[in-house]
Amino acid sequence: MLKLYNTLTKQKEEFKPIVIGKVGLYSCGPTVYNYIHIGNIRAYLNADILKRYLTSIGYEVRHIKNITDVGHLTDDDIAQGDSGEDKISKKALTENKSPEEIARFYEQAFKKDEDLMNILPANYFPRATAHVPAMIQMIEGLIEKGFAYKKNGNVFFAVTEFEKYGQLSGNTLANLKVGARLAEHPDKKNPWDFALWLASPKEHLMKWSSPWGEGYPGWHIECSAMSMEYLGDTVDIHTGGEDNIFPHHEAEIAQSECFSGHKFVNFWLHNRHLLVNGEKMSKSKGNFYILKDILDKGYSPMELRLTLLSSHYRSQMNFTWDAMEQAKSNLQKISAWVANLKNISSGENDSASEIDFVHIYQKRFEEAMDDDLNTPLALSVLYELITETNKLLSEEKLSATTAKDILGFWEKINKVLGLEIASSAIEVPEKMFTLAEERKTARDNKDFQKSDELREEIEKAGYIIEDLKDNNYKLTKK
Ligand code: AMP
Ligand code: ZN
Repeated sequence: MLKLYNTLTKQKEEFKPIVIGKVGLYSCGPTVYNYIHIGNIRAYLNADILKRYLTSIGYEVRHIKNITDVGHLTDDDIAQGDSGEDKISKKALTENKSPEEIARFYEQAFKKDEDLMNILPANYFPRATAHVPAMIQMIEGLIEKGFAYKKNGNVFFAVTEFEKYGQLSGNTLANLKVGARLAEHPDKKNPWDFALWLASPKEHLMKWSSPWGEGYPGWHIECSAMSMEYLGDTVDIHTGGEDNIFPHHEAEIAQSECFSGHKFVNFWLHNRHLLVNGEKMSKSKGNFYILKDILDKGYSPMELRLTLLSSHYRSQMNFTWDAMEQAKSNLQKISAWVANLKNISSGENDSASEIDFVHIYQKRFEEAMDDDLNTPLALSVLYELITETNKLLSEEKLSATTAKDILGFWEKINKVLGLEIASSAIEVPEKMFTLAEERKTARDNKDFQKSDELREEIEKAGYIIEDLKDNNYKLTKK
C-alpha cells in the first residue's frame, strides 16, 4: 500500500486516485531564463521517481510539467510597486535577443538536462505564453464571483474572501498579520492579496491585451490554468520544492477552488531543499551548480542521480563532492554486479544450489518505496542483495537460474531507480568487486589478517582499494 506524505494534511496517507488505475500528476516546471541547477534537478527527479513508481505498481500516469516562459516579477517586487522588466526580459536585453529566443533556448537546455539525468519526459510541457487566454478567462470568472478586484489595470485576488486561505502553508490571515512584512502595493486592499494580472508600462517587452488593458499574468495563475486545462478541476498529485508551498501553491489553491468550486489537489508533495554549505542552493544567492559543473568535474549524470536518490526527498540534503565520490563507487559496484550476473546467467552449468531469496528483496524494496518513496532505504536493500550475491559468487554457489532471477529483479527495480549503467564504463573487473566485498566481510568480522591479504591480492592485480565512511570502499585502477 503506497503512502505519501501530504503537505495539506501533514501526514502520510494511503494514496487513492480519483479514477481507478489512473493518476493525474502536475509538477511546477522551470522559469526558462537560465540553466536549471541541481537543486531544481532534485525537485524534478523526485517527481520522476514518483511517476516511475506509480507506473511500476500499475497506474497509468498523465504528467504535466509547465514551462514558465512569462518572466514574472517576484511577489516582493510587485508588493513594492516595481514595474521593471522581469527575469526573462532582463536576460533578453543583456544578450540582445528577444524574450522568446531566451525562453526557447533555456527550455531546450532544461529538456536536455532532464534527458541526461534520465528523467522521463512529462506527457506534455505546456508553455505559459500559450495559455494567457485561459488565464484571462479564469481571472474574469474570479472577478465575477467576487474573489478578485481590479484597480488601475491590475487585478488582485482578495485573500479575505477565501476562508481556507493558509490551509497548506499555515499562513492563515491571522498568522500573516503577526509576521507582516510586505510593503503595501498602492492598488491592493490587503497586503496579502496577490496579483492575478498586472498592468505593464508601454516599453515592457512581454505583454498581452486583456479586458483590463495591456499587461501580463501573475505567476500563480498559470499553474492553475494549465493544471485545469490538462488534468481537470481536481488533480491527484501536485509536486514542487518546499519553497513553492507559500505563496505559490497556497495561491494556486485559493484561485482554483474559488473558480471551479472543487478541491484543486488531493496530494501535495514537496521536496526539501538541496543545500550547499548548509544554505539553500539558489540562483539568486549564486551558490549553485548546474549539471555542466558536475560533468566538468568528471562525474556522470548517473552518479548525480544516485547521489540525489541516496537521501530521502523530504529531508534536507547537503550537496558534497564526497557524496558524489561515494555514488561513483556505488555505481561501479552495481555495474560490476550486473555484469557478473549476466555472465553467470548465460552459463550452462546449473548444478549449484537454488536459493530463492529474490522475492524477499522485492518485498523489502516495495515496502521502502511504499513508505513515502524512501529511496535511501530501497537502495540499502539493493546493496544488501549485492553483498549477498557476491558472497555466493565467491563461494561458487550462484547458479545460472538464481543469477537470472536476480537480474530480473534488478531490471524491475531499475525501472523505478532509472540508473543507466550499461553505458557507464566498467574500469574495474567484476572479480575485484568480489574480492572487495570479501574484504568488507572480513573487516566486519574484524579479521584484519584476511582483510590485508585481500587488499594485497587486489593491489597485485593492478587496482587500488580505498576505505570510505561506514565500511564502504572505492576501487580504482592503478
Ligand atoms: P524555480 O525555477 O526556482 O521555480 O524552481 C523549480 C523547482 O525547483 C521548484 O519546484 C522549486 O521549488 C525547486 N527548487 C528550487 N531550488 C531548490 C533547491 N535548492 N533544492 C530543491 N528544490 C529546489
Ligand atoms: Zn507552479
